[in-house]
Amino acid sequence: MSRIEELFGSMVFNDVVMQERLPEDTYAALKRTMEVGKKLNPAVADVVARAMKDWAIEKGCTHFTHWFQPMTGITAEKHEGFIHPMDDGTVIMKFSGKELVKGEPDASSFPNGGLRATFEARGYTAWDPSSYAFIKDNTLCIPTVFYSYNGEALDKKTPLLRSMELMNKQTLRILKLFGNEEVTHVTTSVGPEQEYFLIDRDLYRQREDLILTGRTLFGAKPPKGQEMENHYYGAIKPRVYAFMQELDDELWKLGVLAKTEHNEAAPAQHELAPIYTNSNTATDHNQLTMEMMKKVAERHDLALLLHEKPFAGVNGSGKHNNWSISTNTGVNLLEPGESPAENAQFLLFLVAVIKAVDEYQDLLRISVASAGNDNRLGGNEAPPAIISMFLGDDLTEILHSIEAETEAAHADQSEMKVGVHILPRFIRDTTDRNRTSPFAFTGNKFEFRSLGAPQSISAPNVILNTIVAEELSQFADILEAAEDFQTALHQLIVDTVKAHKRIIFNGNGYAQEWVEEAEKRGLLNLPTTVDALPYFINEKNIQLFTKHKIYTSEEIHSRYEIYLDTYTRTVEIEALTMIDMVSKKILPACIQYSDLIGHSLAQKKNLGLSCDAEEGLLSRISNHMSTLYQKNEALITAHHRCPKEDPLEAATYYRDTILPLMAALRQTADALEMLIGEEYWPLPSYTRMLYSL
Ligand code: ADP
Ligand code: MG
Repeated sequence: MSRIEELFGSMVFNDVVMQERLPEDTYAALKRTMEVGKKLNPAVADVVARAMKDWAIEKGCTHFTHWFQPMTGITAEKHEGFIHPMDDGTVIMKFSGKELVKGEPDASSFPNGGLRATFEARGYTAWDPSSYAFIKDNTLCIPTVFYSYNGEALDKKTPLLRSMELMNKQTLRILKLFGNEEVTHVTTSVGPEQEYFLIDRDLYRQREDLILTGRTLFGAKPPKGQEMENHYYGAIKPRVYAFMQELDDELWKLGVLAKTEHNEAAPAQHELAPIYTNSNTATDHNQLTMEMMKKVAERHDLALLLHEKPFAGVNGSGKHNNWSISTNTGVNLLEPGESPAENAQFLLFLVAVIKAVDEYQDLLRISVASAGNDNRLGGNEAPPAIISMFLGDDLTEILHSIEAETEAAHADQSEMKVGVHILPRFIRDTTDRNRTSPFAFTGNKFEFRSLGAPQSISAPNVILNTIVAEELSQFADILEAAEDFQTALHQLIVDTVKAHKRIIFNGNGYAQEWVEEAEKRGLLNLPTTVDALPYFINEKNIQLFTKHKIYTSEEIHSRYEIYLDTYTRTVEIEALTMIDMVSKKILPACIQYSDLIGHSLAQKKNLGLSCDAEEGLLSRISNHMSTLYQKNEALITAHHRCPKEDPLEAATYYRDTILPLMAALRQTADALEMLIGEEYWPLPSYTRMLYSL
């Protein structure tokens, strides 16, 4: 075995380990649970727990934790020791089935959007046997869902699992209509491409804004930005390369299929892409990847930035969510087939996605909405805030001809009417990507490109799965009731293309003309999180979620409040950080530097020397300092006046009043950075941060 083969999955209680360590009947029972989501019986759980514990202890573990994904967006852990005291003063290492299956963390400090009254702070975690347990930091981690006393989801995993089950159910209905009885299970697959920045840790430590908010709130534009565009796919620097190698090792141990690493468009920016896997595992793995990246970076004296826009004027970081539908027989249902019949099925899935994206633009937009991502979407570096879909010219052409029914007229009557012969060749050639599109068909998968780098991929996938499943369920209803399947299928595809083609846009998504054109087409343009979030609680969306039991109405409202609150708190922390930095660092530095100039000025005046430079500089700096002081005071006052009662009102205030004051404050501070001597300026410059590795 090669080193990598040995390393891969060595910290995962995966199928191989289970087969090795579990009695045959226990293994079979556990497998059934994993495949059909059945409840694990307590006797089986005890056996599994013991095997897990022994395996973990052999690997050096002393603790276990239920590993879950609360609404904070980061994973939570509460470590507990295996150690158990005996009456005779000795200890044994113990881990029961009960401890494996269910936990009861004190959940009062996790956001719940009013789902739990504070006196009922209990939350429960339950093992999700469809993801493998693993070892991290000498701790056995059990992936779990997290819910309240009343069973409401308090996390990001529960709705994802619900949405995957929904896709399974509705897709199987469609496959059956096409005569496919072989497939018994369908899952959605995801491969998330992860962007990030790496900077020197020493510089990071000197920036309160990076430490507290993840982005630079000040910083004059560097003389060399990314205009030269020579970083993309460029040679990887040795320090970065060492980091990437160690990161790969760590991820491989955890069974994460990290595959490619390369430089991105901006200086100091990089990307990691894993091989795709089912949405549940992909989501867990992406959370682990983000956590591991930061840890490994620290070991290399680097700071890894995941913020959507760490540096103004430099491309931000996103995440591309590559999504497809796979069967347990190994078929990707978004892969155009070889035969007309396969193509008819492919086209049905395609138009289901088209209809879904058109009807639920709002939900897709909401699924990527955050204060951080507002700095990036629509900024000519990432997709616009308008959701549209790229299909490429060839596929679009085929849809047009189907819509115009020209193809049908030529088709051999004995063949399926919508079975376009030439489809496979056409589409496979369409590798030319339009990077400006938020949602692109890329040959055999859809790439949702609007995600921000730090966000959990759970919400976008919950939405994708749910909206596509909804359309498939509508299609299945129609087709199951149809007298003549072929005719009904043909009509359904034609009608769907006609009704929803407005969402297809292959042009430049960064152009101003697109904003105007999109408006004419009636597409939503929701530039900020605050614009987008109220759509979450629309009747249409509540109906969708409750119909399919993805979220209850209470869960939707709680999430709505959590999202608004997160937005407000994010901007508030940024504002307070700016105030702090101006008051304690920037103004004092300006005073110190002015003092220096003042001394020089006095001396030269005494000697009768020319002091134009000192006079000019001092006067410009003084003017800016007064402005900076006033703007800082204005921000302080505005912060005191924030409305506190209604969460939407508060968020709106932060967007409309606080953010513009922050931008104004920054502008003056950045102007001062250009005037103050480098040794006197208290913050590392953009140039040093972006080019020092
Ligand atoms: P890019 O040009 O965008 O880098 P790649 O083909 O390298 O495209 O794929 C990027 C990501 O898409 C990878 O994480 C990969 O695993 C994932 N991916 C590829 N095929 C599929 C698929 N059928 N379903 C989901 N994700 C996929
Ligand atoms: Mg991509």
